[in-house]
Amino acid sequence: MNFVINHLKLKCEIKDLAFLGGIPTFTERLHVGRPNIGNRQSLLDRMNDMLDRKWLTNNGKFVQEFEQRIADYIGVKHCIANCNGTVALELAIRALGLTGEVLVPSFTFIATAHALQWQEITPVFCDIDPKTHTIDPYRLEAMITPRTSGIIGVHVWGNPCNVETLSEIAEKHNLKLMFDAAHAFGCSYKGQMIGNFGEAEVFSFHATKFINAFEGGAIVTNNDELAQKLRLMNNFGFAGLDNVIYIGTNGKMSEASAAMGLTSLESIEEFIEINHRNYQCYKQELSDIKGISIFPYQNGERCNYQYIVLEVDETIANVNRDLLVKILEAENVMARRYFYPSCHRMEPYRSYFPHAGLLLPETEKLTQRVMLLPTGTSINTEDIAKVVNIIRFSIANSDSIQKHLHQNKLEMI
Ligand SMILES: *Cc1c(COP(=O)(O)O)cnc(C)c1O
Repeated sequence: MNFVINHLKLKCEIKDLAFLGGIPTFTERLHVGRPNIGNRQSLLDRMNDMLDRKWLTNNGKFVQEFEQRIADYIGVKHCIANCNGTVALELAIRALGLTGEVLVPSFTFIATAHALQWQEITPVFCDIDPKTHTIDPYRLEAMITPRTSGIIGVHVWGNPCNVETLSEIAEKHNLKLMFDAAHAFGCSYKGQMIGNFGEAEVFSFHATKFINAFEGGAIVTNNDELAQKLRLMNNFGFAGLDNVIYIGTNGKMSEASAAMGLTSLESIEEFIEINHRNYQCYKQELSDIKGISIFPYQNGERCNYQYIVLEVDETIANVNRDLLVKILEAENVMARRYFYPSCHRMEPYRSYFPHAGLLLPETEKLTQRVMLLPTGTSINTEDIAKVVNIIRFSIANSDSIQKHLHQNKLEMI
């Protein structure tokens, strides 16, 4: 692919950076996770249909269709749609009977840890493999105690965990294995769609995720008994009219959410194509910049390319990640530091386990280096070239920027 870009506003001197008083490259902010809307008319038609039928929630037509489409897409037996991914995690954790301690990465969105702690289960943070950004199975075994009941792997950026090794460890120690697959809808592991691994996997369909249902989530499993239990739990334990046979909560997805989810799903191929184009464009544009690497998705696997993940090596770039984020923000490129701070550095975990970081050297390192850039349907290749130019310029002029910051006694953030 070749991306020829004309009329780029190039920065000539460091004072052209908006960070130092220049004019921002973009007049409107570019965001990470700007929702992919899909076909508006399709959504409005569904909304009208829903209003005409006056069926707004409680396992309506759209929720049933959404569940079926998700299950078909990934080839899994059961899909239980939920109001959001966090409640979906809580339900899966509870339905699997997890107790005591559960091994999780700290390098994840806080909801993974909270879903456990909310049920008074202790998340025990395990370090990640710096190459895959996912939980490191080879560090996991040493952290198993008599109180450990399970493992939750997180397919960070849609990049699959080392499922095989995790499964072996789980089996060997009689632990329940499940996955937070919030990022991984439409991704595969060894050719099989994510959603088929462990006892259950959980997706998020939050507005910022690859497929969105405004707010939404789903639990998928091939286990009939577990699915039945989850259906009960998701609807207060109702087994029929006036008949509660189990403790449950309200985890239901609404019809409006399912209407959005279905609309989003209809455009899945287009979303993947655009994300992939953007990823290739970023990769090509960034290839000549020293000290910056783009997260390599695995060849031969299906991937939603929802995240453009950069690692900044300060020792080479002479600019650290936080300074680059500041520089980009001033240009209206809202780069994000995911997952920063990682879970063990946020409350309540920071107070519970003040020394957790000692066992998490790779997590600590990565959270200082990672930065996400805008992608999705609202970004085009010209925008990407401009974003990368800001980075290229900043690194090429890092000496003068550092000197300027030093002279002006601005703190090197
Ligand atoms: C988004 C996300 C969740 C939570 O999903 P919600 O639908 O926002 O509740 C959980 N885990 C990870 C890794 C996420 O990115």
